[in-house]
Amino acid sequence: QPLITITDIGRKYVIGSETIHAIKSVTLTINKGEFVALMGPSGSGKSTLMNILGCLDTPTKGEYILNGINVSQMTDSELAEVRNKEIGFVFQTFNLLPRSSAQDNVALPLVYAGVSKKERDDRATVALTNVGLANRLHHKPNELSGGQRQRVAVARALINNPSIILADEPTGNLDTKTSIEIMGLIEEIHAKGNTIILVTHEEDIAQHAHRIVRMRDGLVEDDYQNKDVKTVA
Ligand code: ADP
Ligand code: ADP
Repeated sequence: QPLITITDIGRKYVIGSETIHAIKSVTLTINKGEFVALMGPSGSGKSTLMNILGCLDTPTKGEYILNGINVSQMTDSELAEVRNKEIGFVFQTFNLLPRSSAQDNVALPLVYAGVSKKERDDRATVALTNVGLANRLHHKPNELSGGQRQRVAVARALINNPSIILADEPTGNLDTKTSIEIMGLIEEIHAKGNTIILVTHEEDIAQHAHRIVRMRDGLVEDDYQNKDVKTVA
């Protein structure tokens, strides 16, 4: 069933006398359990679309329904609430708290959700075990390799059982071997039934997705099922 329904959304930025149509018109449905790669050249509107999908921004026209909730016209505080509940973010730069342990980083979304310390620690331990870091619970980010940091970020993204995972260039700061490992982890998460939207510039990385959406000049130029899904052996 549709998890995301966006209908004729647009996003314009007005700077002085100039208006930039970052998204001209996009209509898109994403079902539960899909694994979508969002591609396109620089300036095509990928970040603007991801910000809208991630409830960090709202469209200036059109409608966005996320998991049955119309988020198109929400205030910032309403959006923050939807974001915490519905969306797990993974970033290129990991965005971990440098002074906190892996366990505390992963547990952070549960602090906002009002979960007790004991339960937070237990759930973070399980989440880190699931990404292969059972023996790194108390390491700080600078005591972990790049791939391990991204695993921590993936565990944090999953901790609240979000309805979608938005991964923005998750392999952008990783070497080829580590990128493949992280794609293997994302494949595992997808296989468990999670819905994944991945932004990437890299064709090789996009080929792990089951559907590819290409943007150009604020429009969807192409949207197709990937017949030749590449998987990590
Ligand atoms: P991409 O992520 O594909 O590189 P963006 O969504 O960042 O594309 O940008 C799409 C267009 O919108 C570009 O022309 C960009 O300059 C413009 N744009 C993006 N964000 C802003 C902003 N905050 N203010 C003004 N213009 C913006
Ligand atoms: P890779 O070569 O796979 O990127 P690293 O060489 O960065 O990994 O790290 C290898 C191992 O050493 C990892 O398991 C990591 O947790 C550990 N490690 C790396 N740097 C530190 C550090 N400063 N303190 C403690 N452990 C570290």
